[in-house]
Amino acid sequence: MSDKMQSIPIAKPWMGEAEAEAASRAIMSGWVTQGPEVAAFEQEFATYVGANYACAVSNCTTALHLALLAVGVQPGDEVITVSHSYIATANSIRYCGAIPVFVDIEPQTYNINPMLIEDVISDRLQRGIGDRIRAILIVHQIGMPCDIKAILDIAHRYNLPVIEDAACAIGSEILWDGNWEKIGKPHGDIACFSFHPRKVVTTGDGGMLTTNNLEWDKQFRLWRQHGMSVPDTVRHGAKQVIFESYPMLGYNYRMTDIQAAVGREQLKRLPEIVERRRYLAQQYQEKLADVPGLKLPTEPNWAKSNWQSFCVRLTEKYDQVQVMQEMLDAGISTRRGIMCAHREGAYQSEAWLCGVEPKACECEVGKCDRLWESEQAQDHTVLLPLFHQITQQEQDYVVKVLKMACQI
Ligand SMILES: *Cc1c(COP(=O)(O)O)cnc(C)c1O
Repeated sequence: MSDKMQSIPIAKPWMGEAEAEAASRAIMSGWVTQGPEVAAFEQEFATYVGANYACAVSNCTTALHLALLAVGVQPGDEVITVSHSYIATANSIRYCGAIPVFVDIEPQTYNINPMLIEDVISDRLQRGIGDRIRAILIVHQIGMPCDIKAILDIAHRYNLPVIEDAACAIGSEILWDGNWEKIGKPHGDIACFSFHPRKVVTTGDGGMLTTNNLEWDKQFRLWRQHGMSVPDTVRHGAKQVIFESYPMLGYNYRMTDIQAAVGREQLKRLPEIVERRRYLAQQYQEKLADVPGLKLPTEPNWAKSNWQSFCVRLTEKYDQVQVMQEMLDAGISTRRGIMCAHREGAYQSEAWLCGVEPKACECEVGKCDRLWESEQAQDHTVLLPLFHQITQQEQDYVVKVLKMACQI
């Protein structure tokens, strides 16, 4: 075994002089909060994904909150989603006073199982409470596109809006009527992105909503700035005195121009970043192909992931914590698979429902029969280091250590 290398992190943003200069440009311009850089970033983002409109906000969690409000989610409503996601997905539903109805995932893609969506809807209809469900919130987990076609087929039949939590999916693609289209060209109604450093491109913190619906886009712009009728940019350039008004309850969910200036540079790097991540994922696929006890991620033939994370599944024989500890001892950071919101303290009691039961789950705390695949995925998967700057030598070292950890 080679000497222990400098430790290898799980992820690392790829930023440099260009981003530093962009931030400086915004600072020196004298306009630092939401202004011209945000407007330019929105346009460039919309063009990149192929959406009519893109609206920048403070992060993906606030984007999800506004998306749910836009499609009409109100207190007491139910929203179908997954527990197996970063906790922000389910939290955004609770911010609306609504109830997340968790359904299980498909074990191969870690994404929502479309058939289970239909089960929940039919169950509610049979009970005469079909109108409780207000929306479906799907997650393109760790960058892997969901089966949007199957999901939309169900959603359209029951006239339900679909919101895409695309926090990790910038640059991911889906085959749509014979063409590869970007996630964020709204296939559902609204898509929400994150620019947190753990994602593929970053602005420190930041989010984006894309849609083809002009009314919603206008609504997002009001909400993100306290519901104020006249944006700063208009008031600032006005030749006459204007007073703003506040016709509705709004929020402060703005992105700053400093962040947007950085985001514009990150967007320029994005094609190269995605290409490199796909190459690195392919390297893992080839080099880990013959490891017994290890299941590698699969990509449906209609999807191209951006490989925001590379997730391997350990068979029963191997202990997740032990494998991760062995890797950490060798200087390699890994993470366990995606969490399950329903197992967290914040989701005890009646904060959520599972599957077809229109009452709170009565399973043992932290174990829900209906979310079995979600829990299995959390308990038996490991995310491997994958970032733009990782060297061949470092990746080979990760492969070698993982292989040793899987030898009993
Ligand atoms: C990271 C993440 C979020 C939250 O994004 P923020 O920008 O940090 O608010 C939401 N959903 C998923 C699936 C995520 O991975």
